[in-house]
Amino acid sequence: MATVLLLGGTGEARRLASVLLPANRVISSLAGRVADPALPAGEVRVGGFGGAEGLAGYLRAERVDAVVDATHPFAARMSDNAARACAAAGVPLVVLRRPGFEARPGDDWRRVPSLEAAADLLPALAERVFLTTGRQGLSHFAHLESLWFLVRCVDPPVPPVPPRLEVVLDRGPFTVEGEIGLMRRHGIGVLVTKDSGGAMTAAKLEAARALEIPVVVVDRPPVTPGVPVLPSVEEVAARLPGLLTAPR
Ligand code: NAP
Repeated sequence: MATVLLLGGTGEARRLASVLLPANRVISSLAGRVADPALPAGEVRVGGFGGAEGLAGYLRAERVDAVVDATHPFAARMSDNAARACAAAGVPLVVLRRPGFEARPGDDWRRVPSLEAAADLLPALAERVFLTTGRQGLSHFAHLESLWFLVRCVDPPVPPVPPRLEVVLDRGPFTVEGEIGLMRRHGIGVLVTKDSGGAMTAAKLEAARALEIPVVVVDRPPVTPGVPVLPSVEEVAARLPGLLTAPR
């Protein structure tokens, strides 16, 4: 039985854990950011490893045969650590990365490379902002005193945050009708999102299209070169046996 370390924190990671069980020993790893996380089947460990070196040590100690990086597309530090640790420990690695969002006719999207760039753009677009980029990056918007923010995140944000804001604690999946209602009720003039991709949170984009609201889309950080990237749970599950038997 092979031991697979699944770097998680996403719906895909939870699905993959169920698919890989019971044929493999699956250890799912969560960062511990969310107070009440949705838990995958199988073993779960919580908390950082202590950088790439800490992770390499963990891989050796637990005799991990393969790592699947199924973290969120914006968890760039963890992904980089995984690539370095797997190279150091000689453990095969595959990245599960869902496809990004794609603009459709009628969309008014402005793609930006970072949260800072999103913040720079906002004052020219609208005064009332629906910010769905997560609680961790709120400090980048904290100086925008003339704007009003509706912030949606899973756990309460911590300062620094924008001075004029209302927080909605919620996690997907969301419906288009629900998103249209929320944006209408709050008089939203612009939506900000990461290019996370996935069906769980895509309804806000349809809602923005229906309401003819511009969307600021923060581009994904790049994936580490040389690491295989697959777009779906099924493709990772199909590739895994080959990874486990490949000569190292
Ligand atoms: P990050 O900035 O890439 O990682 C920062 C540090 O957190 C890492 O160096 C690592 O600490 C620890 N860490 C991150 N993911 C981990 C995991 N799955 N297991 C164990 N340690 C982990 O990560 P992040 O953006 O804060 O994301 C944290 C978690 O939330 C990830 O599991 C991710 O899938 C999930 N998530 C992130 C977002 C997002 O927008 N960034 C959205 C939804 C879910 P050490 O260096 O000590 O090992």
